[in-house]
Amino acid sequence: MPLSPKPQDEAPAEAGPATGPARADGLSRRSLAAQAMGRIDPVTRGVVPPLHVSTTFIRDPDNAYSSGFAYARPDNATVREAESVIAMLEGAQAGALLFGSGMAAATAVFTALEPGDHVVAPKVMYWALRRWLREEAPRRTFAIDFVDADDLDALRAAMRPGRTKLVWIETPGNPLWTVTDIAAAADIAHAAGARLAVDSTAASPVHTRPLALGADIVMHSATKILNGHSDVVAGVLAAGRADAFWERIGAIRANGGAILGPFEAYLLMRSLRTLPLRAAAQSASALDLARRLRRHAFVASILSPGLPDDPGHAVAARQMEGGFGYMLSIRVRGGEEAAIGTAARVRLWKRATSLGGVESLIEHRASVEGPGSPCPPDLLRLSTGIEDPADLYRDLDAALWAAHGGEPRQA
Ligand SMILES: *Cc1c(COP(=O)(O)O)cnc(C)c1O
Repeated sequence: MPLSPKPQDEAPAEAGPATGPARADGLSRRSLAAQAMGRIDPVTRGVVPPLHVSTTFIRDPDNAYSSGFAYARPDNATVREAESVIAMLEGAQAGALLFGSGMAAATAVFTALEPGDHVVAPKVMYWALRRWLREEAPRRTFAIDFVDADDLDALRAAMRPGRTKLVWIETPGNPLWTVTDIAAAADIAHAAGARLAVDSTAASPVHTRPLALGADIVMHSATKILNGHSDVVAGVLAAGRADAFWERIGAIRANGGAILGPFEAYLLMRSLRTLPLRAAAQSASALDLARRLRRHAFVASILSPGLPDDPGHAVAARQMEGGFGYMLSIRVRGGEEAAIGTAARVRLWKRATSLGGVESLIEHRASVEGPGSPCPPDLLRLSTGIEDPADLYRDLDAALWAAHGGEPRQA
């Protein structure tokens, strides 16, 4: 029997710590995720539900669709199963919606705005979404201002009460890992009559639950740690309240055909079972690396909210639980050339874009980000996987020395 017979309708009511009880029956989010909400296949009693691939469904003699399924563009049972686990992890009473990518999920929120609406977005944010906003906002009739969202006074000053309908934040913000106070941003947004949406990709639902802190919508690129194995592109939105805006987003997904495919949803479902373990291990490794690298001769600075002297640490310590996320960036002494040289010399780290996978990735971020990027040229973005952090440190240390003309130190 499923641990929750109708998971869509029974997302946990109250927020709890990452490993603590999420539901009245005492099961933690980790336990619920491990068993995918306890779902079994009703036909075979298999402990893994089947992959539902049918695009169409038989009508009843009375012309109804008693199964609740008619066609696969608006809805799919495997997609629903993965959504129910994410809704549980986020404490999302109104449920979750999976999309074909993180960008499809994020842009659905902006597409749901009305002509003339005003939007506030952060300067430090996922570069492709910033590019989309810069290119699309002028054509789509919504006005947008980019602010330093970690500066609450700047955020407050950007609000146009009555006109601002959406505040978008990303915390920690890619690729500088600046931290925005979600509860304070929610207060500021709500006071002006706007909604708060949070891109929580770098935090994961294991370490932060924006809805419990007052946000209206949380978004993830599920391509990242939610799937975590670098083999699925997916995105998700989750909401606390099933209001008209949320319904409109659902209609935009259904009518625009942006739903995730069932095969991807199946792989995501498998990954979600281990998310709490992966997130805990990857965050612990990221913090371990940040602590080791701060003493490194060729590292000028470390951007990681887990370090006590990081400008975002106090807020992060308040709103994150069980870890500070799996991402960090370093600024390499010697500038852009030394940074690119370091990324070229690692062996264990993989020199590739993206984040959140079980394999660690390194990237010279300024090579990727376009105009308007706050990313300095000497910055390397590190996505920490599940390898031994001692091996990760040794590999990076050797590359830093080699890029600076020294002999790679053999430990
Ligand atoms: C990758 C990413 C996105 C976009 O997600 P896709 O799945 O690549 O479309 C959005 N926000 C953040 C923070 C990301 O890292």
